[in-house]
Amino acid sequence: MAQPSILWLRQDLRLADHAALTAAAAAGPVILVYVLDDETPGNWCMGAASRWWLHKSLESLGRRVPLVLRRGRADVVLSELLGQSGATSLHFTRDYAPWSAGLERRVKDACDAAGVACHRYGGYLLHEPEAIRNGLGEVYKVYTPFSKACFAAGEPRSPRPVPNFKTSNHALGSDELASWDLLPRRPNWAKGFEAYWQPGEEGARSRLAAFIASGLADYADARDRPDRDVTSRLSAHLHFGEISPAQCWHAVRAAQSAANGRLDRAAEKFLKEILWREFSYHLLHLRPDLPEQPFRPEFSAFPWQVNEADLVLWQRGRTGYPIVDAGMRELWSSGIMHNRVRMIVASFLIKDLLIPWQAGERWFWDTLVDADIASNAASWQWVAGCGADAAPYFRIFNPVLQGEKFDPLGAYVRKWVPELARLPDPFVHRPWEAPTPVLQAAGVELGRNYPHPLVDHGVARDRALAAFKAIKGAAE
Ligand SMILES: Cc1cc2nc3c(=O)[nH]c(=O)nc-3n(C[C@H](O)[C@H](O)[C@H](O)COP(=O)(O)OP(=O)(O)OC[C@H]3O[C@@H](n4cnc5c(N)ncnc54)[C@H](O)[C@@H]3O)c2cc1C
Repeated sequence: MAQPSILWLRQDLRLADHAALTAAAAAGPVILVYVLDDETPGNWCMGAASRWWLHKSLESLGRRVPLVLRRGRADVVLSELLGQSGATSLHFTRDYAPWSAGLERRVKDACDAAGVACHRYGGYLLHEPEAIRNGLGEVYKVYTPFSKACFAAGEPRSPRPVPNFKTSNHALGSDELASWDLLPRRPNWAKGFEAYWQPGEEGARSRLAAFIASGLADYADARDRPDRDVTSRLSAHLHFGEISPAQCWHAVRAAQSAANGRLDRAAEKFLKEILWREFSYHLLHLRPDLPEQPFRPEFSAFPWQVNEADLVLWQRGRTGYPIVDAGMRELWSSGIMHNRVRMIVASFLIKDLLIPWQAGERWFWDTLVDADIASNAASWQWVAGCGADAAPYFRIFNPVLQGEKFDPLGAYVRKWVPELARLPDPFVHRPWEAPTPVLQAAGVELGRNYPHPLVDHGVARDRALAAFKAIKGAAE
């Protein structure tokens, strides 16, 4: 009987297109290990919504293959398991979080000390950060040339099938998943999540198929519309590695070629979004402090105003701006928020309320099921204007006009802010302008069952521009 190999599962909770599993399987029986490590990431250990997802995803994978679950510092736990299992090799997928390089080095050292071969594979990204570089050999800091370089690098490799493999029946013992307390206790704030999500590889695969069948055709034209269900909703599946970006890429390419040109624009747009994920990771690789520090250092001097009470109203969806409140309530109820609305709520927090972007990033970290160290940080910095290739700070979203443009009939607001559901279309994004009889007929009493606007957007905009001026000299 061949000696077993350990497959250290991380953000690659799938069996298909899994280079590390394929290699481990070729070497003999495989012990699949997942370590819940809250210590190594420090301040960035998984948020509450991610923990809910992780529980469900491990549950789903555990129904298909036996998993060894352990809790503790991953390098320490793996080192123990090497001794207990007699494994002769350890395989894992590379991760790019700021703490991962050090962790991976320590795991390699533990393997070396035990005389065990240690193998690291790609797969979480389409292109390793070392592989896409500009003419100076540096990481791209601007998205458009970055995406062009990715397209020029050629099509990503084809996804691998699930390998034939035997799991080792080595009696290592495993924690009970339930003992990790990943699910909320009382109150169960995640009870609505079940209706939206099927975590796990099968859920990811059916989500991708559903998107290709019914969302992709409209993706290029309607992806900015939160009232339409056309985006893929694959972000959490991609984050946990239940599906690989290469699988998404090739499935969309296959649909494109079957459609004889009809899906060309849509496919191009979708693949470019996948490359935004990629871009975020390359930036994080360049700047591991991206989750905490502005990419543009002059923003360190920005005169933020930390106001806890305003932050709480924003978190609870009680700002008095319907599109902002709808987004924040969608997030709380479902663990997700439409991309356009993420931009609107982020702009409102940063520019209308002058609250530091890191406070919003933290809230998203705890509440999003797709909370991702790279995409979250890069996107918050993008909206704040302090990122590598960011929207200029002075481009300040008007939440009323944004609402009217992207949710023209107010369907999204009506869904998530039911107290405004009966307002006529012209007022659904600006209830404070509705005449009293209109408000009365719709059952809306401002200040009682729906708040007055927390700030006057025009005044807030001027205040934000004045604050920006304070650092503008340094920015030029
Ligand atoms: C303030 C803010 C915070 C964000 N935080 C996160 C986060 O924590 N995790 C996360 O995955 N995305 C984040 N995004 C990006 C984006 O909003 C989500 O990826 C997208 O809404 C997920 O929905 P979808 O899967 O239907 O996307 P689709 O439109 O179907 O896009 C397909 C895939 O492309 C990737 N993608 C799309 N847009 C972006 C983007 N702007 N940046 C990086 N990747 C992108 C995602 O993996 C997504 O699943 C954030 C955006 C903003 C403005």
